[in-house]
Amino acid sequence: MGEVLIEQIVIYGILFVLCAIMILFYLRSKKVSSKVVEKKVAVAKEEGLFEPVSLHPYIDLNTCIGSAACIADCPEKDILGVVDGKATVINTTHCVGHGACFHGCPVEAISLRIGTEKRGVDLPHINQNFETNMKGIYIAGELGGMGLIKNSVEQGQQAIENIIKSKKKPKENVLDVIIVGAGPAGISASLAAKKYGLSSVTFEQDSLGGTVFTFPRAKIVMTAPMDLPLYGKVKLHNTSKDELLNLWKKVISEHNLEIKENTKVENIFPKEDGTFKIVTKLGDEYICNNVLLSIGRRGSPRKLNVPGEDTAKVAYRLLEPERIHDKKIAVVGGGDSAIETALLLKDNNDVTLSYRKDQFSRLKPKNKKKIADCIVNKTINVIFNTNLTSIDKTSITVKYSDTDTESQIDNDLVYIFAGGELPTAFLQKAGVEISKRFGYIMKKHN
Ligand SMILES: Cc1cc2nc3c(=O)[nH]c(=O)nc-3n(C[C@H](O)[C@H](O)[C@H](O)COP(=O)(O)OP(=O)(O)OC[C@H]3O[C@@H](n4cnc5c(N)ncnc54)[C@H](O)[C@@H]3O)c2cc1C
Repeated sequence: MGEVLIEQIVIYGILFVLCAIMILFYLRSKKVSSKVVEKKVAVAKEEGLFEPVSLHPYIDLNTCIGSAACIADCPEKDILGVVDGKATVINTTHCVGHGACFHGCPVEAISLRIGTEKRGVDLPHINQNFETNMKGIYIAGELGGMGLIKNSVEQGQQAIENIIKSKKKPKENVLDVIIVGAGPAGISASLAAKKYGLSSVTFEQDSLGGTVFTFPRAKIVMTAPMDLPLYGKVKLHNTSKDELLNLWKKVISEHNLEIKENTKVENIFPKEDGTFKIVTKLGDEYICNNVLLSIGRRGSPRKLNVPGEDTAKVAYRLLEPERIHDKKIAVVGGGDSAIETALLLKDNNDVTLSYRKDQFSRLKPKNKKKIADCIVNKTINVIFNTNLTSIDKTSITVKYSDTDTESQIDNDLVYIFAGGELPTAFLQKAGVEISKRFGYIMKKHN
């Protein structure tokens, strides 16, 4: 009897010690992962990626139980983490608004918001029909605040249906609708306009596909099933940018849609008779009864307006650096995008970085260090105090602001990073009202 009791005590003792060891290991691993996340948050703050610029998760710390379900469900990397048993945002500027964290949270501790208490985000006023305060000007897609491909596609179609319902009288030589922007919202709207027999033209300042066109090639695109006008249900859950772009291109060509790429809409002038005059960057003018703005939230790259800037060798963003070899490249600008582009291209090309000031300021610490090393090692030819004055087929000319002298540099490609013009000014010029939203809760989540 006594032996049995001792045996039991020993077994329970061993079990207790094993449990204690496991708990200790668990707590230790939690502490380690907390520290890792804390470090990531610190880096995100240093690099300006912590404060959200658009839609993002807001965590109610009183409700959060630290289950980490939000992290498991988020398709993007390092948007969320857990520190000391509570969820936290990390690289919030990279959030694309999937809303999976919101759905995944078992205790409803997450809401999706636009802007924070400190930093407001400009949102245009739109009613439930997607119409702005300017009668006849509609907005669909991410510009209205709600991101994602599926939402934009749905809104593009719905906006066109509302334009039809508004029963604005058709006029001779006046287009029923002009669609500005050919991302997911603009493509869907263009197809819907064709489906319902509206006369329309779509303008895209860049390339068909909008933000999707700019995704890195390897990115897995997550999208819920969506209805594409003139096509039907698109069931590509985990897909690639190419598959999605090819699908859009196929439907567009099958239905002979008119989408004018590389054509920026510069101004929208409301006319007294209720129509609108649309003026493109090239100076072409069009008259329409309605305008649908599906221009997203990224804005337009600022141009330098120098001779030769409109040639094919000039670009305002870098896609697929791995494909660029043995070129003489000029990168213009002194911000993080310019530095990161120069760094990505330097190993396989001959890169000159032209910046108009005498030193870099406000760079991410890691870019600051890397570019300083490149200057010392002469792996990037950095020329301060220079302004690009002209671009020719095989060279560029820069002017030194300190010496007032000019220099010609052999060149194959030019990347310009001179900042961007936000859509806000464009909307205001057209009379669309805008408000700053501070921590505004988005109601519809997909
Ligand atoms: C890195 C990243 C990853 C993402 N991943 C996903 C994902 O996996 N799944 C998902 O559903 N969503 C994802 N998103 C979000 C998604 O890409 C956007 O929500 C969606 O593209 C918005 O569509 P849109 O048509 O409203 O605007 P956009 O796609 O931004 O298109 C707007 C278009 O308007 C054009 N334009 C702007 N101004 C003018 C003008 N004046 N004249 C002519 N054209 C103009 C622009 O050039 C642009 O092509 C991601 C976003 C990013 C940045």
